[in-house]
Amino acid sequence: MPGQKLAFPGRNYLFAPGPTHIPNEVMNAMVVPQEDHRAPDLPELVLPLLKDLNKVFGTKKGQSFIFPATGTAGWEIALANTLSPGDKILTSRFGQFSHLWYDLAKRIGIEVELVDVTWGQGVPVAEFKKILRADKEHKIKAVVACHNETATGVMSDMGALGKAIKDVKHPALYMVDGVSSIASVNFQMDEWGVDVAVSGSQKGFMLPAGMALICFSQKALAARKTAECPRCFLDIQDHINTNKDGFFPYTPSVPMLRGLRAALDLLFDEGLENVYARHHRLAEGVRRAVKAWGLKPCAAAPKWYSDTVTAILAPPSVNAAEVIHIAYHRYNISLGAGLSQVAGKVFRIGHLGDNSDVRMMAALGGVEMAMRDAGIRIKPGSGVGAAVEYYRSTAKKDIPAFKAPGAAAPKTRAKRKTATRKKTAK
Ligand SMILES: *Cc1c(COP(=O)(O)O)cnc(C)c1O
Repeated sequence: MPGQKLAFPGRNYLFAPGPTHIPNEVMNAMVVPQEDHRAPDLPELVLPLLKDLNKVFGTKKGQSFIFPATGTAGWEIALANTLSPGDKILTSRFGQFSHLWYDLAKRIGIEVELVDVTWGQGVPVAEFKKILRADKEHKIKAVVACHNETATGVMSDMGALGKAIKDVKHPALYMVDGVSSIASVNFQMDEWGVDVAVSGSQKGFMLPAGMALICFSQKALAARKTAECPRCFLDIQDHINTNKDGFFPYTPSVPMLRGLRAALDLLFDEGLENVYARHHRLAEGVRRAVKAWGLKPCAAAPKWYSDTVTAILAPPSVNAAEVIHIAYHRYNISLGAGLSQVAGKVFRIGHLGDNSDVRMMAALGGVEMAMRDAGIRIKPGSGVGAAVEYYRSTAKKDIPAFKAPGAAAPKTRAKRKTATRKKTAK
């Protein structure tokens, strides 16, 4: 309308590491009239969902739960259902999310042995192993780790930590925050010996925020019987009692359950292995772009590189928050902010969930423009060019052979007839 501020054409692209783009299939699945959450056929939706979540968590023996909450509640569900006030856990802090789980543990009365690690690095497996080995009395009741530190773009080796716990034969429960990794990168709860895995709906699961998705091993399930942390809304026992028949202890968001069904179908149709390979490839293109810009990721070494988010260090003369500000207001893309210790120092490109080569090119193009506007002297096209070449060289090869229209295609009978008719008409 005349005089009205024009909305951006196209859409706002979410290149923050969550919430992520919701695929059309998932969005459509959620546009349903409100359903009766006690309908006798609701279990037909719920029971397969709980079973299928196990596949994403990489477990045959575990039990998945869906809470109407977010990842933060998942942290509390993990601790409150397995521990008692005063119990000690071992964890490390190297970013805002590993900090927040530590903080939550303290606030609900858990004692925490904290290993502070320079931001940009990840879980100190060797140091944890030493601490666990020295803990002869088994005072440490749980080892708590952030698989993918979303604030710094650092991914840690959760298999290696699981092995370390096993190696020293420590009986502690092993809890992992997989909010920004599960459903995007390989996650093997059984193989790695993980006892509680925590995730949320708005990242790799490509849904709106509003669901905490958690999985407990048999060992963690058993721990609930002696765990004395107060809990009510977050008590898995009420879910265990009702989930077995395909229901919930309180009103679930049925539209989100429908969305979760669609999201899981998309993940399984693509194949989880292919989903993981896609995330690695898209991430690698972003990393090539960062290198070509002459910039550095916050992740201190390649072994820490995350396949779901890259935090990029801005040159010291530029406030990274300005890049994000310009990207949003001028180019309509959302980037991840620098949090806490790295506020103003990094901006983050999320490359998880419903993304493709071309979507990442939009991210990189937008970031290049915003960076130049903010005064970062990168060569235009440098990062984009590096990603173009990487994505091209690793793109799928099996596409139909190209034939120029009208060139060598053999004429069919019908076509010949039309051709003759046209001639006679002249
Ligand atoms: C996003 C995120 C969370 C928090 O999830 P909320 O859904 O915002 O509560 C926790 N851990 C990690 C690693 C995350 O990326």
